[in-house]
Amino acid sequence: MEAQEDVKFFESEVYRRDNSIIWTSENVHAVRDKAGNILYFEGTVEDITASKRAKAEIEHLAFHDSLTNLPNRVLFRDRLSTALVKAHDQLQIDLNKNSLIEIKSTSPILAVMFLDLDRFKLVNDTMGHAAGDRLLIEVAKRLTECMFDSTFLARMGGDEFMILVPELQSVESIQQFAQMILQSFESPFFVEEMSLYIGTSIGISLYPNDGQDEETLMKNADTAMFRAKERGRNHYQLYNHAIGAKVKEYVAIEYGIRQALERSEFQVFYQPQINLVTGEIDCMEALARWLHPELGWVPPNQFIPAAEEHGLIVRLGEWVLRNACKQNRAWQIQGLPPIRMAVNFSAKQFQVVDLCDRIMQILVETELEAQYLELEITESLVMQDQNTTITMLKQLKSQGMSISIDDFGTGYSSLSYLRLLPVSKVKIDASFIRETPQNQDDAAITSAIIAMAHNLNLRAIAEGVERKEQLEFLRSHDCDAVQGYLFSRPVPAHEATLLLQAQLK
Ligand code: C2E
Ligand code: MG
Ligand code: MG
Repeated sequence: MEAQEDVKFFESEVYRRDNSIIWTSENVHAVRDKAGNILYFEGTVEDITASKRAKAEIEHLAFHDSLTNLPNRVLFRDRLSTALVKAHDQLQIDLNKNSLIEIKSTSPILAVMFLDLDRFKLVNDTMGHAAGDRLLIEVAKRLTECMFDSTFLARMGGDEFMILVPELQSVESIQQFAQMILQSFESPFFVEEMSLYIGTSIGISLYPNDGQDEETLMKNADTAMFRAKERGRNHYQLYNHAIGAKVKEYVAIEYGIRQALERSEFQVFYQPQINLVTGEIDCMEALARWLHPELGWVPPNQFIPAAEEHGLIVRLGEWVLRNACKQNRAWQIQGLPPIRMAVNFSAKQFQVVDLCDRIMQILVETELEAQYLELEITESLVMQDQNTTITMLKQLKSQGMSISIDDFGTGYSSLSYLRLLPVSKVKIDASFIRETPQNQDDAAITSAIIAMAHNLNLRAIAEGVERKEQLEFLRSHDCDAVQGYLFSRPVPAHEATLLLQAQLK
């Protein structure tokens, strides 16, 4: 029998008598007599348990998230790419079985789910980072309980999680799974002796219809998640072709917007803001409207993003600003008590270096004093390019304009950060108002925002007020002003004029 001469670094797992396990590394070589017969083997056996553990630890750290101990983004991608190889084979089999079926209409084989917690930022901002971390750990546990043998959960960072669902049977089964996860969020999370109701929004992309590689599937699940958020929190959304179609619509809209500017198809509508102390309209918000010759009224949520994407927002924004200022001045000339005009500004408009000069120019042109103009900006705008934006805002404020933060609570800024900004008003996002006061969670957030705004010497206004109970709640929590269908929808200029005139009587 041929005996092996040498064994180098041969690693084995060894059970010791006390049943504990150690790892050893052996180096052995044969010792022979002159005739070449093996006499014996000699060598060393080394206990490498500690270094083995350290290596495993390092590997674990590289592929796991240290806070929740869940697999991380790197490991997720790796699992997804392996699963895709298998899914691809499966797809070939399915296609061979029925060669008439196109890829587009095959049933899904694999799903990627993207989860983002709703209002996580608010927990972080109001309760502190330690509480935020604690919540993430609890969420990770809750999600882990929802998993099946074949599903794979990872934390992508922040409050984002992803789930890989291989070997998918049908679209219905992934919908049921998403529903089950949403249901699991219905009971509160306990953090620092408080019970928090936190929702999650889920976006789902399916292989092969929504993408055939890791990149596309992950990106599309992300896009779908944003759509889920748009539908209101605690929803799931499949990335279907409707979303792809939206993108195509954008391109068509670009040409439309250029034409519309030329053909004057845009209009400005006005929605009053009611001061809860005086009961009077003290501000009007200018909201753009597009009367498309074939499509009819196109809502701003459809054309503003397109205008931003195609760089048309600067022209459109100036057009709205000019008209709004002109209208406000016209009201003053008619002898109506002066009010402020609030105009929405997109982030893209703040990239125009001489923005302040241009606004001043328009004020001069329309003969409106700066104190009667208010700029509405979103939190994300301020967070993007903080220094330049803050400088610009300070410049605008020093000219007499006021600045308010729109859709407050949906973005990423903290109230304490607002202290650094020349802001005078926060507009509580309508999504918090919608279910206030029945939804205790929303009501608590709403009243907390009002209280904190007041602490920072800011005015608080609620958007999307539709019902009397909401108004009563806001009034009892000292909210300064309200805007919403309960008082008036956004209306054309002549109707807004009637609203203002009615106050004189
Ligand atoms: P926003 O600035 O947060 O405006 C408030 C939106 O809520 C308006 O939608 C308004 O019609 C709607 N709204 C007001 N009260 C209620 C209510 O009681 N219930 C409900 N369900 N909705 C209510 P709109 O006019 O469709 O505008 C949507 C968004 O488009 C605006 O949100 C703003 O971000 C953007 N936008 C509109 N005009 C302009 C503009 O001239 N420039 C820029 N950059 N963005 C604009
Ligand atoms: Mg606004
Ligand atoms: Mg808003």
